[in-house]
Amino acid sequence: MDEELSKKSHKKIRIADLEGKPKIAYFSMEIGIDKRMPTYSGGLGVLAGDTIKSCADLNIPLVGITLLSENGYFYQKLDKDGNQTELPANFSVSNFLKLLPSKTTVTIEGRDIDIRAWLYRFEGINGYIIPVFFLDSNVEGNSEWDRNLTKHLYGGDNKYRLAQEIILGIGGIRMLHALGYDTIDKYHMNEGHAALGTLELYRQLNDVEKVREQCVFTTHTPVAAGHDQFELSYAKPMIGDILPDSILKEIIFENRLNMTRLALFFSHYVNGVAKKHGEVSQLMFPGHSIDSITNGVHTATWVSEPFQKLFDKHMPCWRSDPYVLRSAFSINKEEIWHAHMDAKKKLIDFVNERYNVGMNYDDFTIGFARRQTAYKRPELLISDRKRLEEIAEKVGPLQIIYAGKAHPKDESGKESIKKIFETMKTIRGKVKIIFIHNYNMTIGKMMTAGTDLWLNTPRRPREASGTSGMKAAHNGVPQFGTLDGWWLEGCIENITGWSIGPEKTEDNESDDDVDRNDLYNKLETWIMPKFYNDRDNWIRTMRSCIAINGSFFNTNRMVQQYVLNAYFM
Ligand SMILES: *Cc1c(COP(=O)(O)O)cnc(C)c1O
Repeated sequence: MDEELSKKSHKKIRIADLEGKPKIAYFSMEIGIDKRMPTYSGGLGVLAGDTIKSCADLNIPLVGITLLSENGYFYQKLDKDGNQTELPANFSVSNFLKLLPSKTTVTIEGRDIDIRAWLYRFEGINGYIIPVFFLDSNVEGNSEWDRNLTKHLYGGDNKYRLAQEIILGIGGIRMLHALGYDTIDKYHMNEGHAALGTLELYRQLNDVEKVREQCVFTTHTPVAAGHDQFELSYAKPMIGDILPDSILKEIIFENRLNMTRLALFFSHYVNGVAKKHGEVSQLMFPGHSIDSITNGVHTATWVSEPFQKLFDKHMPCWRSDPYVLRSAFSINKEEIWHAHMDAKKKLIDFVNERYNVGMNYDDFTIGFARRQTAYKRPELLISDRKRLEEIAEKVGPLQIIYAGKAHPKDESGKESIKKIFETMKTIRGKVKIIFIHNYNMTIGKMMTAGTDLWLNTPRRPREASGTSGMKAAHNGVPQFGTLDGWWLEGCIENITGWSIGPEKTEDNESDDDVDRNDLYNKLETWIMPKFYNDRDNWIRTMRSCIAINGSFFNTNRMVQQYVLNAYFM
């Protein structure tokens, strides 16, 4: 019966069979498609990779375009006090990617720069292949500065970034042409970094409406300050004539070229990445119509091995059709627990071997892993050390596993890592803390599957969506988080996890004191007692995470919404 279901859902979306030629080009500054290639910095890149994987599984005729980021997003080294140093994370490009003979050119500050492309092929579950092109300016004949442009993801100054965006947007469109793609009729900009591509389309078509018909834009940033923008004084000479005076007034904001406004102006379909984020974006840009498609994760990528086995046994077609995860309700609770303990042992063994922390398999373990940056409030959980010690004394032992990189220029993010290290050394009693260095997809997978509770504490309304909690849900790990981003949709109190703080406040901002109190109170009176004293109900919650949230917050569902709402309408 499960197989029948799976076949049916495939029939609906075999769009590739209609044409057999790519129709959609998906642009993203970062794409994390292979855990061995550090060409991503965080959620945006992992989402892009998961999107491409689901497109491959669903035979969606799409190609991906990104930058090579040859030096990788850095390797994070931490000293004993938590001081972060960034080392290059070079990878052997030719082991993973094939250099293509096609070349194209972009003009920056009047200089012609040659661009080449490397090919990665991702094969979906039915053998359908999605090509991903990694653009590279490290070509003989280009100047030294120009040859460096595709090396550092989010490195360098604003001019460096703008040059990268010229390569990604304008270079990307031209490269598709050079590669002989002539069937593409939708250009999807995953965040504003590729927005300059619309100028190349406008140069070719010379008709705003025609460009709009072809462009789709997904915004990821809920605060105005986060939008990419460049001073006109250097942006205009760098970009050159391809930036037409006739549309300048539409895309300039406070004398800066604003990439979000450029993408908005030229797109017929715009969306935020969770319902709330769509609303917040709509308020920010009242002149545009902004929809929302809530993010997901690629199910087969993020389910741990023990749960893969369990799902294979009970819901054999879960990889091709993650909707069937809803029947996880019928899996025996003991089996869920055993699979979880297998995943947990792997994580605990890993941290014990690496850091000699003596963590226990049976102790309640909280995970927190994400970019270390102020709005995510990494230190909220440990901000009252005494309180935490008391809770553990009273209810039961507590283990906390952290990971996350701070952007090289994010000083407050780096401070939070040091604060966690300081607490780690001074905390007493039944609490153990460890910080795993160099967070990446491998560590992320191990942590989202191997902890008992996934913590997420963003300051509202700054979390556009968040996706690590979705990975946890796929592995039966409930989330405990502030009501922002996807969690507003995913949280059913005490059934799929727990909320931190109120859903609404007058100014819609988070109050650290209110949230901290709620966090400790719930941990003490609801969450940890349930784990230690009511295991049966705890496992029921775990199962609901898979059935209710895993079956929905996946990229197969998300991609199908993009197809219906953005690509083919
Ligand atoms: C999933 C993932 C993220 C995104 O997590 P958020 O919850 O959105 O912060 C970032 N980095 C890595 C390595 C991931 O696997």
